[in-house]
Amino acid sequence: MEKTTHFGFREVASSEKAGLVADVFSSVASRYDVMNDAMSFGIHRFWKQFAAMHSGLKKGNHALDVAGGSGDMSLHFLKQVGADGMVTLTDINQEMLEEGRRRLTDRGYVGNIQFSTADAEDLPFDDGQFQCVCISFGLRNVTDKERALTEMQRVLSPGGRLLVLEFSKPVIPALEKVYDTYSFNVIPKMGRLIAGDEDSYRYLVESIRKHPDQQTMKTMMLDAGFDDVRVHNLTGGIVALHIGYRF
Ligand code: SAM
Repeated sequence: MEKTTHFGFREVASSEKAGLVADVFSSVASRYDVMNDAMSFGIHRFWKQFAAMHSGLKKGNHALDVAGGSGDMSLHFLKQVGADGMVTLTDINQEMLEEGRRRLTDRGYVGNIQFSTADAEDLPFDDGQFQCVCISFGLRNVTDKERALTEMQRVLSPGGRLLVLEFSKPVIPALEKVYDTYSFNVIPKMGRLIAGDEDSYRYLVESIRKHPDQQTMKTMMLDAGFDDVRVHNLTGGIVALHIGYRF
């Protein structure tokens, strides 16, 4: 019998998930950035800034932004690695990658940025190439998360680190109630008004609830071969930053 996985709250064949996720991001690509600001009241910018502050990147380093979409994290990394460094932005979805290419080119970044269409589960890079690998709000969309974590560990150079920025489990019970009401009742409607797509934003909310909590995520990273994992809760655990180190 074929293996199944979740797509939001629906159980689907594992082989189907990537196509369904691709439909979501193709549909919202052009309104993706506007929706992020609207849904999070701009707070996603601080979560991403916090993650970038923990990149450990130095001038001349090479960073990999996996599932990088419109390139928010790449923008931080480009400043950190400077003109002698390099950032590689990858995404499985061509439309999201094009949004990233357009934004970064508009800001004058050419030459030290590379774009590559790639599945997080099968990264087309040699072992030990990057000083920092990041997956920001991407991992919950990946079908085989363990495989993606193993791949990201493989391409890290010794001394490098993986940043996993993702929605997680609120650690303040009162916050959880308000957050649930807002997520299930307001976000899909915002999706309809701003991006013309209620279903994709319902998937977003559901996929957050299906994503592993902080401790499970930490265990998955250790199992994938990281030598140490540290966790930071942001906005009461609505989001968590997991940092996995390769010694
Ligand atoms: N990293 C960006 C950010 O933080 O704004 C974009 C995050 S967006 C919510 C999720 C991205 O993951 C989409 O661009 C989507 O195409 C990409 N994605 C989904 N599944 C993927 C996979 N298996 N491999 C690579 N990228 C994937």
